[in-house]
Amino acid sequence: MATVTLDHVKKEYDNGFVAVHDATFQIEHGEFIVLVGPSGCGKSTTLRMIAGLEDISGGTLSIGGRVVNEVAPKDRDIAMVFQNYALYPHLDVYENMAFGLRLRKTPKAEIDQRVRNAAEKLGLVDELERKPKALSGGQRQRVALGRAIVRNPAVFLFDEPLSNLDAKLRVQTRTQISKLHRELDATMIYVTHDQVEAMTMGDRIVVLDAGHVQQIAPPLELYNRPANIFVAGFIGSPSMNFIEGAVEVSASGAVFVSPGLEPLALRGAPTASSGITLGCRPEDLYVHGVAPEAKSLVDLGAFTVDVLEPMGNEIVLYASRGGTSLVARVEPQELPEPGASVSLSADATKLHLFDTASGVSLA
Ligand code: ATP
Repeated sequence: MATVTLDHVKKEYDNGFVAVHDATFQIEHGEFIVLVGPSGCGKSTTLRMIAGLEDISGGTLSIGGRVVNEVAPKDRDIAMVFQNYALYPHLDVYENMAFGLRLRKTPKAEIDQRVRNAAEKLGLVDELERKPKALSGGQRQRVALGRAIVRNPAVFLFDEPLSNLDAKLRVQTRTQISKLHRELDATMIYVTHDQVEAMTMGDRIVVLDAGHVQQIAPPLELYNRPANIFVAGFIGSPSMNFIEGAVEVSASGAVFVSPGLEPLALRGAPTASSGITLGCRPEDLYVHGVAPEAKSLVDLGAFTVDVLEPMGNEIVLYASRGGTSLVARVEPQELPEPGASVSLSADATKLHLFDTASGVSLA
């Protein structure tokens, strides 16, 4: 069983910089895990430690129940797919895929069967005799995938494999990798800074920031119940709106107050506190008078329209009031021009509250 377990894993580089602090989580057999976070958060370092390309400074890393801290990459039963494909330019597609198997002295007939099988799966049958330079970027990345597949590893590691592809190919290859995951029943660990890739591909997502694991959860849980302001702001596009203020409680209930905003009636029973950040996703904001009737809306007051971005199926509306700026995703409709006034409401059931100082969710 190809579980991958990180137990208090730490990476301190030679210059004393700690890129990964105390990472503890388990990746189950057959799971597709995405490590996501902004540039420099430590996701590649984490993947490279699993691959054995970086030493571990502290903690224990196990693959399939075996501690691999000191095990060489080639003996870890893993295959890695890189962003830059890392193909041998002088070898054709067939030999690029066969290379690792030849090194391992796999019998010729078995190599042939595995390579042809992978080529079939990846739609590369007609390209087997071509050299990498005669291939498109998408085809090269499929060869890199093929090279990993023929090895039949227990764990696949992907380091931003789609970054060099154009938008359309990225979507195609993304679907292809998800399909392969289902077919191969392999454990896959995938690094990306792209939250759309993370949301669409991962069974679970590990969100990292500054070398710290922020939250580990399935995509929708991450989206609906972010553990803190960082995760809430990182997942979702456009990002969640944040407004700093305080919660006040009176006989008539709890309200969120912020300078320049109408007091906002809150659901549940939040306790009175200063230093509170209210979070609201752009799709949970509505223009007055055009919201679906079923929504339980709370009024945010009149805002000035700053910018309208028509996307076809929706409009992204940027509006402000005093020092508060909001982004809303609204239905395509007749909207006032920039500079005009618009009344905004929020879905009361979808508001998030965070402690401003620690960032931790209070919901
Ligand atoms: P990116 O998407 O930009 O690759 P990342 O999340 O994958 O970002 P890492 O490559 O894991 O980030 O790097 C994490 C941090 O460790 C960064 O601040 C980076 O500068 C630092 N770092 C990486 N390699 C070394 C090294 N060999 N020596 C010192 N610091 C390093």
